[in-house]
Amino acid sequence: MEILYKSTRGNGMPVKASQAILKGLSEDGGLFVPERIPMLDKSLKEFAQMDYRQVAYEVMKLYLTDFTEEELKNCIHSAYDSKFDMEAVAPLAEAGGAYYLELFHGATIAFKDMALSVLPHLMTTAARKNNVKNEIVILTATSGDTGKAALAGFADVEGTRIVVFYPKDGVSPIQEKQMVTQRGDNTLVVGIHGNFDDAQTGVKKLFSDQTLAKEMEEKGYQFSSANSINIGRLVPQICYYVYAYAMLLKEGRIQEGDRVNVVVPTGNFGNILAAFYAKNMGLPIGRLICASNDNKVLYDFFRTGTYDRNREFVLTTSPSMDILISSNLERLIYWIAGNDAEKTRELMSALSGEGKYEITEEMGGRLSDFYGDFAAEQEAAEEIGRLYRDCSYVIDPHTSVASAVYRKYREGTKDAATTIIASTASPYKFTRSVMEAIDAKYAAMGDFELVDELSRLSGVKVPRAIEEIRNAPVRHRKQCDVDEMKLVVKEFLGI
Ligand SMILES: *Cc1c(COP(=O)(O)O)cnc(C)c1O
Repeated sequence: MEILYKSTRGNGMPVKASQAILKGLSEDGGLFVPERIPMLDKSLKEFAQMDYRQVAYEVMKLYLTDFTEEELKNCIHSAYDSKFDMEAVAPLAEAGGAYYLELFHGATIAFKDMALSVLPHLMTTAARKNNVKNEIVILTATSGDTGKAALAGFADVEGTRIVVFYPKDGVSPIQEKQMVTQRGDNTLVVGIHGNFDDAQTGVKKLFSDQTLAKEMEEKGYQFSSANSINIGRLVPQICYYVYAYAMLLKEGRIQEGDRVNVVVPTGNFGNILAAFYAKNMGLPIGRLICASNDNKVLYDFFRTGTYDRNREFVLTTSPSMDILISSNLERLIYWIAGNDAEKTRELMSALSGEGKYEITEEMGGRLSDFYGDFAAEQEAAEEIGRLYRDCSYVIDPHTSVASAVYRKYREGTKDAATTIIASTASPYKFTRSVMEAIDAKYAAMGDFELVDELSRLSGVKVPRAIEEIRNAPVRHRKQCDVDEMKLVVKEFLGI
């Protein structure tokens, strides 16, 4: 059955999946949501017999209903290939009584690869299907990981250009090095003088700038987004929850129908929203545990029903979660408002005006699937050390936020359900923070010395993504103020 996508803010006609992917964001500033959530049409036992690509097809076909089987399979096969260093694509590792779903085996060693290795293929296919002749300009704000994963996905992809804005002082040294060494004539990487929210707000502004859109159209360009607001990011993320469940079933760790809890280290609310969609498709998920770092705006929201971004922005060792405006939450708000676009619009305009909003009691009543908590810097660091000492398993600082929250959840609730923790980055991407959490003595060592030391400690080979940047030349040095972002983009496009 065909699924159309409509805006959470209600304006405009519903569009096909390929059109929603091309647009990224709806013209009224809303996010595209499927008119209904489809149910899985294979049994969990059948999924247990499939490899990652097969699961991905079975899930994605339910959402991207205007793609042909051949188109979708081509996209999937071009994405989940030898760019991933594990045959399983997203393997599960058991440690300390939980299953870590390792989503970091792709080209840039963070979970963003799971969706961004397929998005360029979905987007170029969508452009072809819709007879788009313009060059597609991907505009992206990144808190560190999206940028590199999008660059890797779109570099030298014909018919596309990509511009990435990152907070100059808000990403890890390795994250920055990964981005500024990016090859590809169609790529531009810019450090902005501001934080991630500034970058994201600036990008959203460019998207809704009608004058700019017109100038671009005249020169044969149009914008699209690789941020997690794009439905083409969200849908591929649903697949690995189905896959993880199927793997547990296949290995006899659970019985068909057993409920598993899912813990997700959360920033922009994309990853956990994908788990929520998976649950609503019929996957037996119990609790969705939303883990925040010191920027605990989501924890406060789940606790009080008030979303309030008026607070200090804290730079932490889990920079990809240093976010005060979790864009994808708008999709959940729309859902708990009973698909009420007017209510969503009202709350979102309060958010952009006063920086906060309060949901109704009725809406709050629909949040019972979720459980929110946070782990402070110290707790997250201790969790890395503990897991290393007890289980010889090394996790990154984002995953450790989730792991620490899980530990508290389990102690507090005595809920002993099988639990999947989304492991969102390789420890190699945040080597310094990881090593210092294991032992303070590492503070004195250089970045790449630490990389080798981590390999020795963990017994895990240094990933290709890290070897590549060891000696790679810097290709991008541009920096700008937030109010210069438009200028930078125009200059790059020559308009
Ligand atoms: C992006 C990212 C997150 C946050 O994911 P959201 O979908 O934005 O909530 C967590 N951890 C890492 C390593 C990330 O790159």
